[in-house]
Amino acid sequence: MEYAKNILETIGNTPLVKLNKLTEDLPCLVLAKYETFNPGNSAKDRMALKMIEDAEADGRLKPGGTIIEGTSGNTGLGLALAAIIKGYKCIFVISDKQSKEKCDVLRAHGAEVIVCPTDVEPTDPRSYYSVSKRLGEETPNSWYVNQYDNPSNARAHYESTGPEIWKQTDGKITHFVVGVGTGGTISGISKYLKEQNPNVKVWGIDTYGSVFKKYHETGIFDENEIYPYVTEGIGEDILPKNVDFSLIDGFTKVTDKDAAVYTQKLALEEGMFLGNSAGAAIKGLLQLKDEFKKDDVVVVLFHDHGSRYVGKMYNNDWMKEMGYID
Ligand code: PMP
Repeated sequence: MEYAKNILETIGNTPLVKLNKLTEDLPCLVLAKYETFNPGNSAKDRMALKMIEDAEADGRLKPGGTIIEGTSGNTGLGLALAAIIKGYKCIFVISDKQSKEKCDVLRAHGAEVIVCPTDVEPTDPRSYYSVSKRLGEETPNSWYVNQYDNPSNARAHYESTGPEIWKQTDGKITHFVVGVGTGGTISGISKYLKEQNPNVKVWGIDTYGSVFKKYHETGIFDENEIYPYVTEGIGEDILPKNVDFSLIDGFTKVTDKDAAVYTQKLALEEGMFLGNSAGAAIKGLLQLKDEFKKDDVVVVLFHDHGSRYVGKMYNNDWMKEMGYID
């Protein structure tokens, strides 16, 4: 018999899938690392499990403990899955711009979810950074995960996603493109790929309203770059420790409208029903067209599944209301 001992053993070893129609004007092969095949339907299952295992190993997380995190949903689901199998409680703090579906899914996995306002400074006591930190200090036998600065986040991708991509492309990968939020995905994968071949180029996808691109190009943390945006999962108004700028060759920014429109296009033209950051990632990749030559092998990572966006990017009334389609 061949079976996984529990759901956590099915994390990782996701497929690499060729893009066809959307990339037909590019000279190179474009392959998608298709992370929705993870049991929580996102790449975040990998780092959630790794963060828990590392915290168990050094005693930060003790038996019967409570896991506390500020999460936009996917990390929460990864943590909730591992918590169910391993016997922990979860409290998640989420910002009010995240889709209702993401909240419902977390609650369906037994987690307590607290919703905080988006349009306040990170240092404001109502912000989801502040609330999650405070709960971490006040709740007995609790562990505050802090995916932004927790090194196990990037390490998960260094140990699993990076080696998988290298093996699946037979070491032929020339470029890696991915959306950046906490930075764990890009930094962990880039470190592994560049150790195998320093010529691999790594591009981050950023959003308008986020600080990454400007900071990478100038070293200046420019508060004028920070304003509310619609795109989910990528961009930040802080510099998380998990973003290692030395491992990133460049950033390109994608508009909210383009990210939403290309999320729809992935489903309609490739049969890939994916989240909003996948739309941003493929549009960003197309913006980088001049970087790619004939025999290049470009890998783009798609983080999460379309089911969490049915009320938004997959709802044409919402798309019209936002002015994204006529
Ligand atoms: N896409 C989605 C849907 C996400 O939830 C995240 C995590 N915030 C990202 C992209 C960015 O990944 P990372 O945090 O590893 O930079």
